[in-house]
Amino acid sequence: MARTDVIVLGAGIVGTAVALHLVKRGLSVALVDRTAVGEGTSYGNAGIIEGNTIFPPSFPSDFSTLIRIALKRSPLANYHLRFLPQIAPWLAAFRAASQPTRLVETMQAMRPLFARAIGEHDALVEECSAAHYLRRTGWLKLYRSDRGFAAAARELDLAKSFGIANVALDSEAARALEPSLQPVFRHAVHWTGAVSVTDPLALTRAYAARFTALGGLIVTGDARMLHRVNPHWRVDTASGPLDAPDVVVALGPWLPDLFGLLGIKLPFAVKRGYHRHFRPQGNASLARPVLDAENGYCLAPMDQGIRITTGAEFAARDAAPTPVQFDCVMPAARELFALAEAVEAQPWLGARPCFPDSRPVIGRAPRQSGLWLACGHAHWGLTLGPATGRLLAEMITGTTPFCDPKPYAAERFLQ
Ligand SMILES: Cc1cc2nc3c(=O)[nH]c(=O)nc-3n(C[C@H](O)[C@H](O)[C@H](O)COP(=O)(O)OP(=O)(O)OC[C@H]3O[C@@H](n4cnc5c(N)ncnc54)[C@H](O)[C@@H]3O)c2cc1C
Repeated sequence: MARTDVIVLGAGIVGTAVALHLVKRGLSVALVDRTAVGEGTSYGNAGIIEGNTIFPPSFPSDFSTLIRIALKRSPLANYHLRFLPQIAPWLAAFRAASQPTRLVETMQAMRPLFARAIGEHDALVEECSAAHYLRRTGWLKLYRSDRGFAAAARELDLAKSFGIANVALDSEAARALEPSLQPVFRHAVHWTGAVSVTDPLALTRAYAARFTALGGLIVTGDARMLHRVNPHWRVDTASGPLDAPDVVVALGPWLPDLFGLLGIKLPFAVKRGYHRHFRPQGNASLARPVLDAENGYCLAPMDQGIRITTGAEFAARDAAPTPVQFDCVMPAARELFALAEAVEAQPWLGARPCFPDSRPVIGRAPRQSGLWLACGHAHWGLTLGPATGRLLAEMITGTTPFCDPKPYAAERFLQ
């Protein structure tokens, strides 16, 4: 039987960053996953480190968008009809959290984490010799209509008040940055300070390599084997039983698999999302990710090709893939950028782990000593992994946390 100070369950970007921050503070740490590092949700994102985020995606407030989604005519969201009764309470809570005053509260609660997001990645890539995976060209949000651009005005005003750099551009100025884009849009916003990743899997692997270089253990095991052997926690792994006084649960969309064991139930759901890589035609290229805001997809240049990512799909996590949003977005994507053939036969499916208030849970698990949670990072797990790692490592080691962790406590759902 092996013993460590901390066991981290889940080697996505969040768990890996937590494990690395803990080992950097001198603790012995085992990072447990049933598959290889970084191959869950963290493999498939759009690669944007969005320190600029102001408002989270919200429940549609206008009737026409809602009707289009209900009729499955919007690329912004898809749903499985049979799943709706199951997710209805979560959607109701998400809708409540989408009221304008609640969105401002969320923005204020999340700002300390977002403000730290890029700096924490910078510090880690420096020590991991992984800076070449980061592209410092910002990202572009495109608006095809004046109405769509006007809807972003509040976000831009708030960004200004927080000193978050952005430049509003017309189509011609945006095409000076990205000459391969076709002039099918009227407005763009260049978020100049954002950073993007050319290969999210390679970045997580680089953080994991640094973790092992500092003495951390990566172990194959099933988190559902976690149990108490007083006064410790134990996980039965492929290398035998592993004990520790502290355990961090960083299972991304698989968090509910431990709810029974944790003795808690949190309002958790997944927003599924797909990606597929395409080769560019001829010399067409992109220097940064591009979001076609009103069409709900992102074109993200990756080492593997141009990665097209889709919006939310509300369906059971493990239900069979239904990548119908691609049928919706591909004509718009091909109109915007010269895409050649797809790289893979089928799209990849992932699941964004989400709480209805769009905040993660970072901190102690209620009513369980030595159990910590780092989960629910929704659209920003890549962005916030390292900042989460620092915050949780500071909490576990009893040092002053860089920001107040209260807004991320699980207790907010248990009152
Ligand atoms: C299409 C799409 C686009 C996105 N774009 C962005 C973006 O541009 N920027 C951004 O910041 N975020 C983005 N995200 C969100 C981001 O990818 C997620 O928030 C993030 O990957 C979550 O990381 P995680 O470590 O919590 O979960 P995961 O990466 O899913 O890691 C969880 C780990 O737990 C392991 N696991 C599960 N069950 C068990 C078990 N029983 N035993 C042991 N191990 C287990 C899994 O194997 C996995 O490795 C996007 C997501 C999607 C789907």
